[in-house]
Amino acid sequence: MSVKDKDAYTRLNFLHQAAHLILNQCPNNQALVRFYCHTQRSIAKRLVLRHDPSVKRTICKRCSALLVPGISCTIRQRKKNRPVTVIRCVTCGLTKRFENRRDYQVWSEHSEAQLQHQTLTKEPVAPQTSCDVSQTSKQTETPRDTVVQS
Ligand SMILES: [Zn+2]
Repeated sequence: MSVKDKDAYTRLNFLHQAAHLILNQCPNNQALVRFYCHTQRSIAKRLVLRHDPSVKRTICKRCSALLVPGISCTIRQRKKNRPVTVIRCVTCGLTKRFENRRDYQVWSEHSEAQLQHQTLTKEPVAPQTSCDVSQTSKQTETPRDTVVQS
């Protein structure tokens, strides 16, 4: 990631957090939230940066509202042919549908996407000699209290 991209991602992060904060503290100020999310989307579009799907799914495609269940969107489970989650934007009424499949992976989680990314960067992997990488998983066994019900 280049320095320019790092700055841009920092700004995107700030805008997303600011939108969440405004929506939390004064839910009536939807215009400011939409402005933040719209700015966030336009920056990402201009610099061709990809949002993580977890972030992308919280922004309405039509009106750029921040979709938080119970405040600015509704979530319903529907089942006609296949079970789907329907997210409806309260502001503009646009609906998103996501299939409820246990084995579903977004593209960024696919192993093929990771391989493609590795071949594109073409950076030689420097052997790490400075620090020992052998990370032992710290699994301390917590003693489980046995509750005896009398
Ligand atoms: Zn909307």
